[in-house]
Amino acid sequence: MSGWLVIAGLGPGDPELITPEVQHALDAATDVVGYGPYVARVAKRDGLRLHPSDNRVEIDRSRHALEMTAEGRRVVVVSSGDPGVFAMAAAVFEAVEAGPTDWRTLDIRVAPGITAMLAAAARVGAPLGHDFCAINLSDNLKPWSLIERRLRLAVEADFAMAFYNPRSKARPEGFGKALALLKEICATDRLIVFAQAVSTPDEDIRVVPLVQATAEMADMRTMVLVGASNTRLIPRDGAPIVYTPRSVGA
Ligand code: SAH
Repeated sequence: MSGWLVIAGLGPGDPELITPEVQHALDAATDVVGYGPYVARVAKRDGLRLHPSDNRVEIDRSRHALEMTAEGRRVVVVSSGDPGVFAMAAAVFEAVEAGPTDWRTLDIRVAPGITAMLAAAARVGAPLGHDFCAINLSDNLKPWSLIERRLRLAVEADFAMAFYNPRSKARPEGFGKALALLKEICATDRLIVFAQAVSTPDEDIRVVPLVQATAEMADMRTMVLVGASNTRLIPRDGAPIVYTPRSVGA
């Protein structure tokens, strides 16, 4: 039996947002590997082995998945959202590059998922409707000085921005520093979207001008979207619409 490895994205939370391609891979798998809370989202069934692991052991987890694939098992590595966005796909390829050359002959595919920034953007309208960038605010894997430099340059280039991993218990101060920087260089009415636990029962969406944004509005389950200078808000009964026009200046 020849094994395969699918590195799959489970989307932001709602099972409706799992793609049919990912569901087919899960249905055909013998093994599912990933961070515990994500593996817990996969339905148990006979013949399917679940291998939950801790956070921050991405390379060990990747090697384990590759070893099982080489033994002929059908393995799905799961990430939330999209596996290529601050997630497992790059970790698996890092393990492939550093591993035995045999691993390069394995059948490895990436099955995309709906990443949190797109799920969050869809909730409020189209804040990423023009040019934008995505920044991981965690300084676990890069120095804070680089995050700050990228933030400054993104503001200078007038991108809308999507912040992943804005704040955690282990890193309580980083997002506050990022907000302070934005307050220093952007207008006070710059639109900020805090989209928490999108597409789960705990979903909570808030839209505020930069001047009202505080660090406590974000946690590890929050996507923070920062509008570009021309991002607009349409007030209406209930939640407002936020969108960035498709054209600038012409
Ligand atoms: N691969 C994932 C991102 C992993 S980084 C993806 O493509 O979505 C983890 C960060 O993603 C979290 O700290 C949070 O900022 C964001 N995130 C993931 N799921 C989310 C959700 N349902 N709602 C809001 N933000 C989410």
